[in-house]
Amino acid sequence: MQKKEFWKQFENQPTIVLIQGDITQEDTDAIVNTTTRTFEMAGGVDKAITEAAGPGMKEACAQYGSMEPSQVIITEGFNLNASYIIHTVGPVYGKEGGKEADLLAACYKNCLWMADRYNIRTISFPVISTGIYGYPMDEAAKVMARSIGGYFFDPENMNSAIEEIHCVVFTEDKYKIVDEVFEELFNRNDT
Ligand code: ADP
Repeated sequence: MQKKEFWKQFENQPTIVLIQGDITQEDTDAIVNTTTRTFEMAGGVDKAITEAAGPGMKEACAQYGSMEPSQVIITEGFNLNASYIIHTVGPVYGKEGGKEADLLAACYKNCLWMADRYNIRTISFPVISTGIYGYPMDEAAKVMARSIGGYFFDPENMNSAIEEIHCVVFTEDKYKIVDEVFEELFNRNDT
């Protein structure tokens, strides 16, 4: 199990914690689920969270009918440690007419925006779209780092209560890829 902190030196920015692990075991206020347009269960993160949260979660999602890539909804955390689950739909790599990176960035920003509406202080993200939806890990990690960074450098979000962001990566090989990207993008002196 590996873990590393980024951005700890900045007082007004959240600490970014890169973690190798299972997102369902997180102790944060909110965890992010990568679901499908119709909330029907996919594999990967969605399956793990659905099983850990219990049947109430999919019933709560079903009330919304459907959503498009990058949109978000929020439910309670049901049987998870987290109080909330923020559900989003990632873009399918190569299938969104060239808008993949914009949609993926919007997923992260919309999740953070929703977290701020609920005064959430700690939130855990998986690396969205890098499983069934086929996004290459390094490209996805770059979008993740830039969009999280961009959110907190936007003056509109200056009053964000978010203190800690966990980026949870399942496997050791994927962790290494994200670590390299985060070292480059979060530890640069000009950020
Ligand atoms: P998507 O449909 O957005 O591609 P997936 O759930 O298939 O979503 O995969 C997203 C990423 O989450 C992949 O890198 C996958 O390895 C990882 N993953 C799968 N299960 C878990 C889990 N329990 N905790 C954290 N990450 C997970």
